Amino acid sequence: MITDPIAMCELLVGLPDVNVLAVEDTTPLRVHIEVRDPSRSCPDCGSVGVVKERRRVELVDLPVFGRPVRLVWHKHRLTCPSLVCGRRSWTSQDTRIAAPRLVMTDRAGRWVTAQVGRDGRTVSEVARELACDWHTVNDTVLSYGAALLDADTHRVGTVTALGLDETLFCRVGRWRTQAWATSIVDVTAGTLLDMVPGRDSQGATGWLQARDPDWRAQVRYGVLDLSGPYRAVYNAALDHVIQVADPFHLIRLANDKLDECRRRVQNETLGHRGLADDPLYRVRKLLVMAESRLDDNGSKKMLGLLAAGDPRGEVKMAWHAKEEVRNIYQIDDPEVAAEFVARLGHDLQDESCPPEIRQLGRTIIRWHAQITAWHEARVSNGPTEAVNNLIKRVKRVAFGFRRFSSYRIRALLYAGRPNWDLLATVTPY
Ligand SMILES: [Zn+2]
Repeated sequence: MITDPIAMCELLVGLPDVNVLAVEDTTPLRVHIEVRDPSRSCPDCGSVGVVKERRRVELVDLPVFGRPVRLVWHKHRLTCPSLVCGRRSWTSQDTRIAAPRLVMTDRAGRWVTAQVGRDGRTVSEVARELACDWHTVNDTVLSYGAALLDADTHRVGTVTALGLDETLFCRVGRWRTQAWATSIVDVTAGTLLDMVPGRDSQGATGWLQARDPDWRAQVRYGVLDLSGPYRAVYNAALDHVIQVADPFHLIRLANDKLDECRRRVQNETLGHRGLADDPLYRVRKLLVMAESRLDDNGSKKMLGLLAAGDPRGEVKMAWHAKEEVRNIYQIDDPEVAAEFVARLGHDLQDESCPPEIRQLGRTIIRWHAQITAWHEARVSNGPTEAVNNLIKRVKRVAFGFRRFSSYRIRALLYAGRPNWDLLATVTPY
């Protein structure tokens, strides 16, 4: 049994080659240490340095028995005795205790990275547990996280179906500017491969062109929303892939057009924006529901409100168009689907249709190949949506990110499935 309290504390501290000098019973608990036989060689010429002074560096450490701890490291400040060496002085380092520049011990750094990055705990919650500043935890997670992601060279494996999707990335700060990012996703595995800034074609094209040609050749499908930029990405960087329009985005577009039509008719018939009692305002939620989800009462209510607020039947036509778009995805046979989509796109451009729906028809014709490719490929951005939800969660727990690079690291740690076994081996930046 160990009775010497200092020896006992050395065991508790559990760091190699460390002497415990004193323990201060403060909150947080302060454990003073020094390194046994620290290296004294000059980093420039290797001469044995002369101790000039002792400095204390206070590091956030893991809690002991539920009490927050500071490790007070008594370090040597050394000077070089060599007359020809240019180095004046340096502070002894020991990365087993803490990485240079970080104000947290190495073991605490790895622990907070796993807590926040892998398990999704909030930075503030972890900071409270360690009784330290929010930024201390955040900076540490980013340092170890970036090192982990760089070390994990096998993270991006073979991908057969790739998805591109936009995510809003909010920068906090004085102007609360909003910025967009593009997530690049393995839609089969539901894994975030990477994030690039912007939602134009440049970022994702560059990312794909930087991949190995063999890796690119294995991608068979490229899922995208109905937007020009991502189409341009595939055309430029993966021109062999079959482009697949994401069902979710096409249905959302049909709903948007229906809503535009409803608001226009509302304005034309009543001369003002929708108010709580207006039939076209009251019907708005029923309209965007899938017909299959409406019960008898819902249908009756919807038809009644449309009869009251939609004299020329335009909103009703837009509603039918939206339902037909949904029906695209009920069809099993790819050839039947191709025929159906072509006819639908053509029919919706009929002069009898409201202008919003004629526009929808033109989009459907323009994207005919990508829309019907879904019936062969059966891949969608559904997994991408799941990844985007994870990213939103990361954003929520961190109150938005000032810098894109921080956002990317946190998103990849959480949704990119890094090999967490490597965390124990990496050197933080
Ligand atoms: Zn020197």
